[in-house]
Amino acid sequence: MSWQVRTGADVWRFTAVISGVVLLGSIGLRFAVLPVDLATRTLLPGSAMALLLAAPIAWFVGQRMREVARLGDRLEHALHHDMLTGVHTRLSFYERAGRMTGDSCAVIVADIDNFKGFNDRYGHFAGDQALRQFAAMLTANCRAADLVARFGGEEFVIVIMGAGADEGLAVAERLAARVRASPIFFGEHTLRLTASFGVATLPSDGDMDSAIQQADRALYRAKHAGRDRAFMFDPAQDGAAIPMGTAAE
Ligand code: GH3
Ligand code: MG
Ligand code: MG
Repeated sequence: MSWQVRTGADVWRFTAVISGVVLLGSIGLRFAVLPVDLATRTLLPGSAMALLLAAPIAWFVGQRMREVARLGDRLEHALHHDMLTGVHTRLSFYERAGRMTGDSCAVIVADIDNFKGFNDRYGHFAGDQALRQFAAMLTANCRAADLVARFGGEEFVIVIMGAGADEGLAVAERLAARVRASPIFFGEHTLRLTASFGVATLPSDGDMDSAIQQADRALYRAKHAGRDRAFMFDPAQDGAAIPMGTAAE
């Protein structure tokens, strides 16, 4: 049997197995230490006593194990899924990125434009709703193999598997157009948002943090150029990325 106690049936199975083991142990011990006639005479009351003690304790322990398993599942889910938007967390992103093999890919950093103003104008709940819809739109416009993660506030990182520079930029431009065209529904209100995107490529043997840093620089340029657009990292305009681990303290 599996020692994972997750359901009510698992609790009963656990209780039955532990009670059975205790019962058999008590019978074996009885015959090992008592004379046979005494062991035989006390078999029934002794066994009943062992079961009466073991079964409720095993059931109680089984219930606690079930609660621990449930909490473990919830914790695991919370560590890997952003609570507000349901996309990957930064932790989950790096775990998955670490398992990526083979192909190069495109890395996109996305940031909602003037989101502080959006919150100030329409309120924090409208902002939360916008974040949920924004994340859902990103996910809906990527493939299942791609990665969408919330890195903080209104900033998301997307990895388009197997994509080069042209495809990465095309995806980011398509995402920008979708955000522009997609209304945010909040109560009776229909609100509008835009977002800016920076794109970089990650070679198969490349460093994810360097690619994110490059995409971030392109995003910075997109913001300065007026927002609501996607730019590809260009070392001539964005400067070379700082090699990871050598940045000034
Ligand atoms: P820019 O176009 O330059 O990115 O401007 P911005 O206003 O989007 O950027 P800024 O960094 O000034 O503001 C980000 C805002 O995002 C501020 C914060 O209130 C909001 N924000 C961050 N996390 C959440 C969240 O979980 N929910 C809501 N509603 N707002 C959030
Ligand atoms: Mg922003
Ligand atoms: Mg931001």
